[in-house]
Amino acid sequence: MKGRNDVRLAVEWDGRWVLTHFNLKEFENENGWVMIHRSVIISLTKIREELGKLFGEEVEIVITDSTRTHQQLEHLGEKLGWIDEGGVVARNSKHLEVFGGIAVDFYARFKQSKKRIASSSIEMICKKYFDFVKADYADGHIHADNRKQISTERKK
Ligand SMILES: [Zn+2]
Repeated sequence: MKGRNDVRLAVEWDGRWVLTHFNLKEFENENGWVMIHRSVIISLTKIREELGKLFGEEVEIVITDSTRTHQQLEHLGEKLGWIDEGGVVARNSKHLEVFGGIAVDFYARFKQSKKRIASSSIEMICKKYFDFVKADYADGHIHADNRKQISTERKK
């Protein structure tokens, strides 16, 4: 749907407002439902900035998955298999909405050439800005989450 969740995201950190390169739409699920924690936008923006400096050209972050409903996770678990049964999907996935939108899956690519950057070569930078990073998936995506946000946020 045109216009739905088509909202450029701006976040405040260290006393400054930053208009990011991210759009709310990039984080929505297939039904247009969206939940994303502000710390994720800040972490992704810092990674994008640092990668741009490192490679000397603009790098973009492509979001492949963010917050999932319980129903979506069940579906994914059935499709790809649960970790405790030898699959890849965690039953207590940090992607679940109950955690407040703290997890994201993505990959990085050069903006101009659209050439994808290997997750192994940016893993360390991702670890600087997210609480937890997993970068050894077969399809090359990176999982990152800010799990330290959970305990404080859920009290509110
Ligand atoms: Zn993930």
